[in-house]
Amino acid sequence: MKDNKPAMPRREFMGNCARTLPFLVTMCSISGAAEKLFAQDDNGYDPENHSYAMGVDIHKCIGCGRCAAACKEENKVPPEPEYCRTWVERYVVREEGETKVDSPNGGIDGFPELGTDGDVLRTFFVPKLCNHCANAPCVQVCPVGATFTTRDGVVLVDEKYCVGCRYCIQACPYGARYLAPVKTVADKCTFCYHRIRKGLLPACVEVCPTGARIFGEEGKRASPLRRFRRFNDITVLKPGLNTEPKVYYAGADGEVR
Ligand code: SF4
Ligand code: SF4
Repeated sequence: MKDNKPAMPRREFMGNCARTLPFLVTMCSISGAAEKLFAQDDNGYDPENHSYAMGVDIHKCIGCGRCAAACKEENKVPPEPEYCRTWVERYVVREEGETKVDSPNGGIDGFPELGTDGDVLRTFFVPKLCNHCANAPCVQVCPVGATFTTRDGVVLVDEKYCVGCRYCIQACPYGARYLAPVKTVADKCTFCYHRIRKGLLPACVEVCPTGARIFGEEGKRASPLRRFRRFNDITVLKPGLNTEPKVYYAGADGEVR
């Protein structure tokens, strides 16, 4: 959503890959270094005992945008609309069958009144973010291992190693990444990794006034995520891509993409 640049033509992409290959070989040892950086134990935290995921209940989202605003503040995301780690989309389904999606400033400032061009059948809001895919294309294409998956299942970018080549931004089918200005490194949602390692909720989950965002751990009986998945009809975004997203949606019908 945020990266409006046209997709890189496949031939150009492959050419870039070929040019990057020698670089890849010399930098491959960095990959392991990046993973260790975030997987090491601090204050008794053992990443092997955790597996994080998020639920989004579309029935409960009122489109207030507090989650997107809280994320910007918590993670010092630049204020411009093209930079956001999470955002809220409004879906407007009209009787004629047409569906329009908008997300002005990620939903932080609310949504404009609907026009009168056709009868509105229904509207709903869909919060989006990085899906922390178990089979993540962004991890697969990163030539220097700067994008990696932690042992507790979170996809992160180690900015010390990111060379800003944008391959991951092109590869993410969910538009979840952007190139941070000034630092010129890839950036995206981290599930507020600095918070969850201390047992806190991600900022977006904490501020949601309706409980539309549910955070928890996969496979843990006491986790609210387990109840959410058990008692709702769950889908993930773009299931046909086999990315194995770990953001689970309740109430997302075929319109949501
Ligand atoms: Fe990577 Fe995009 Fe999946 Fe996040 S949603 S893990 S950025 S492919
Ligand atoms: Fe890896 Fe993406 Fe950074 Fe390139 S821009 S090094 S692909 S994380």
